[in-house]
Amino acid sequence: MKYIPVIGLEIHIELKTDSKMFCSCKNDPLEKRPNFNICPVCTAQPGSLPVINKEAVRKTIKTGLALNCSVPAKSKFDRKNYFYPDLPKGYQISQYDMPFCSKGYLEIDGKRISITRVHLEEDTGRLIHDNKSSLVDFNRAGMPLMEMVTEPHLSSGKEAKRFAEELRLILRYLKVSDADMEKGQMRVEVNISLSKDRKLGTKVEIKNLNSFKSVERSVDYEIKRQTELLEKGEKIIQETRGWDEKKEETVSQREKEEAHDYRYFPEPDLPTIHLDQKFINTIKAEIPELPQQKRDRLVYEYGIGEKPVEIFVANKDLGEYFEKAMSELRNWVKEIEIKEKVSPEEFSKLTNLTVNYIITDFWSLFGKASIIELEEKVKPENFAELMTIIYKGLISSKMAKEVLGYMFKTGVDPSHIIKDKGLVQMSDSGEIEKVIKEVISKNPKAVEDYKKGKENALQFLAGQVMAATKGRAKPDSVQELLKKLLK
Ligand SMILES: [Zn+2]
Repeated sequence: MKYIPVIGLEIHIELKTDSKMFCSCKNDPLEKRPNFNICPVCTAQPGSLPVINKEAVRKTIKTGLALNCSVPAKSKFDRKNYFYPDLPKGYQISQYDMPFCSKGYLEIDGKRISITRVHLEEDTGRLIHDNKSSLVDFNRAGMPLMEMVTEPHLSSGKEAKRFAEELRLILRYLKVSDADMEKGQMRVEVNISLSKDRKLGTKVEIKNLNSFKSVERSVDYEIKRQTELLEKGEKIIQETRGWDEKKEETVSQREKEEAHDYRYFPEPDLPTIHLDQKFINTIKAEIPELPQQKRDRLVYEYGIGEKPVEIFVANKDLGEYFEKAMSELRNWVKEIEIKEKVSPEEFSKLTNLTVNYIITDFWSLFGKASIIELEEKVKPENFAELMTIIYKGLISSKMAKEVLGYMFKTGVDPSHIIKDKGLVQMSDSGEIEKVIKEVISKNPKAVEDYKKGKENALQFLAGQVMAATKGRAKPDSVQELLKKLLK
């Protein structure tokens, strides 16, 4: 009988705020000097008192609302007591039974994954170990950390990965965190058990996952490992496992003795938080168009395929540029429609042409400049003009690449570049014929081969013609004329 994997996620997210969670120290994850951004509050000096960072609360609620959670009117912070050298107070301020957000969901490829809660807490410091000693850096201590917990509704490594990817996109759209997994700004923990009846089996936790790939692979590995054990009639041990990137396997870190008793109790140094509906509504109003809404709209509005839609959703700047270029194209269509009708099929061709240029040639420019520089050089209006020039067949796609390169270098519009560089496609067949005749007389062997039936000899000759015209001849008319003249 087959075992069903039951998977839940716990995801910690470092929030992007100016200051730390309960003090005015700078929240700078990039600070390299150890113990630089610290004060009596985040190092737990006697007598120091915490003050709640309102921005962190706003960002947590914003995330919860974007994940379809409800936000209760009352919330509080609690002390989670445990000892560890990176935790100066001997407890972490977290939220226990009254989180800011609860009971939400996120849809992944049409499947609804329930979210149990989203709460706010503080991060710990960092321990640095070398051969002789262990050092502690409190720069990270007290940074605002948001935690999101899902119900165990996921059933494969791929689903877990997709969930984490979609969540990262949402966090970035909301601008609440950069959520870079490699930098530890988003840390995923997986709970996984196998059962035959969807009831929870013995739960294994996988920690230290620092990429989407490792989320997927570690889950798939665990499913395989646990299945094999159960089929042999062995028991699964409740434990925490880590992911060994090199060996591509999970390794036991520690067995769970007893459930931890954190002795949670309400944080006496902080007041209960009352959130009025007006405050929640202002946050709600700030939520931008989210990735899924954008996917639906792009398909509806432009009729474009799944692949470009995904590229435009994942690369927000690129998607925004595409929409600006499309709006310019629509203006252009309006102008020519005074004289002639542009059919929906023709406009759809023009749209696809634009999509293709943006996700290939234009996108490759992104590595060389920021979006602001890029937009300044290649204005959407000029890009749209280039598309109409290609569409009308005035220049070849090879020339178009060249023109785009010049546009990027100089910021000049395409028609001026084409005129200055003499890049206009040769439309005079008499002129092309002259070149072809020259090529034929210079390459008697290829001509002979072609006449013997060697098709690639024709391609060779066509290549010679294209080279002689510097790519200005239309490839299909070159082929046609060559065949005619070789008869
Ligand atoms: Zn501080």
